[in-house]
Amino acid sequence: MVGFAKVTRDLTERRVAEEELRASEERFRLLVQSVTDYAIYMLDRDGHVSSWNAGAERFKGYTSNEIIGQHFSNFYTLEDRAAGIPVLALQTAEREGRFEAEGWRVRKDGSRFWASVIIDPIRNDENALLGYAKITRDLTEKRAIEEQLRQSQKMEAVGQLTGGLAHDFNNLLTGIGGSLEMMQVRMAQGRTAEIERYVLAAQGAVKRAATLTQRLLAFSRRQTLDPRTTNVNRLLAGLEDLIRQTIGPGIALDVVGASGLWPTFIDPHQLENAVLNLCINARDAMPNGGKLTIETANRWLDDRAARKQDLPVGQYVSVCVTDTGTGMTPEVITRAFEPFFTTKPLGDGTGLGLSMVYGFARQSGGQIRIYSEVGHGTTMCIYLPRQAVDSVDDTEATFHVPVEQASDGKVILVIDDEPTIRMLTLNC
Ligand code: ADP
Ligand code: MG
Repeated sequence: MVGFAKVTRDLTERRVAEEELRASEERFRLLVQSVTDYAIYMLDRDGHVSSWNAGAERFKGYTSNEIIGQHFSNFYTLEDRAAGIPVLALQTAEREGRFEAEGWRVRKDGSRFWASVIIDPIRNDENALLGYAKITRDLTEKRAIEEQLRQSQKMEAVGQLTGGLAHDFNNLLTGIGGSLEMMQVRMAQGRTAEIERYVLAAQGAVKRAATLTQRLLAFSRRQTLDPRTTNVNRLLAGLEDLIRQTIGPGIALDVVGASGLWPTFIDPHQLENAVLNLCINARDAMPNGGKLTIETANRWLDDRAARKQDLPVGQYVSVCVTDTGTGMTPEVITRAFEPFFTTKPLGDGTGLGLSMVYGFARQSGGQIRIYSEVGHGTTMCIYLPRQAVDSVDDTEATFHVPVEQASDGKVILVIDDEPTIRMLTLNC
């Protein structure tokens, strides 16, 4: 009799446990079912839909009756299907334990939405693959908002550029226009001896305008570069005195040239310009003194590193300028290369230094990167491609272009879209 009682109790316990499990599974099923912000569904081993929740119906437009048993590649675009992406996704999930991606997916009505997708393999206790759990989120709206934000940021940058440009040129034109007017007045008065100073003033403004356009051309990667085989260490050694003068005695300078540094094929004057610009920025970031380090190195960028730096795989020479100054906030870092972006008081900064350095690095086939932390300082690294071993050293090559004389009655046609330039060319 004792034994009987025990069996009864055991059965009861087991039934209670089974009931509880069933109830909890049911609760879980209901939970998954009622989620509408995520499409949560399962696939069998071959990728056929085996369960479907309310969110999946909401995003994709299929009722569970319509879709269960169908292959999940129906949700992919034709291009992705042709490229074998759905199968690849399952294989990746099986092999790596998870597949995560963002991409375009297709609704039942053919419209597309931007989805964030996670696929997890489901295995039993013996580790055999039973199928896949798939969670999809509709990010179309989020993506649209991000796109809008990017667009408005771009417009703001363009606005700032245009405003800065218009302001600077206006000042220069006022200088030139005013000088010309004064020359006219003095000539009418017959005071020709006083004309000289207005000529000089106008010429000064013209020179500043030329510098400005030069920097803008550099930023837009359209400056005329004069690349030569360059030993960056030697270039820095030649620049050291000038840098020391520029940063002043309150800042210690350390120039560390890597031994065996590869040669580069770049415009040496523009590199000097760039390094000087970085040093001036570093000085401005250390008003109470500090340390400035310029360091060169050979760098091998493999596939991953190259992708990170947005450069082709290969060998590069880096020049890094490090200061112990104020550092930059993430916001300043993202905008630092924009022309006319400056955090310095009006009249102090032009906001053209880094945009010029950026343009030069990119046009030279290289890159510039900012590593900075507020309160700790900043490192700016320029990457320049190593000179190809087989490229010819044409440092000494010069070209003599014969100047044609037109004293024998020949007619020369002068073409330019700017009337002033035509007039000046004809009179010179
Ligand atoms: P500018 O020097 O005329 O302001 P730049 O294009 O050279 O223009 O630099 C843009 C901005 O980037 C600076 O105003 C400054 O806020 C920031 N910046 C550049 N270099 C540094 C640095 N070494 N440390 C801290 N901030 C820097
Ligand atoms: Mg600057």
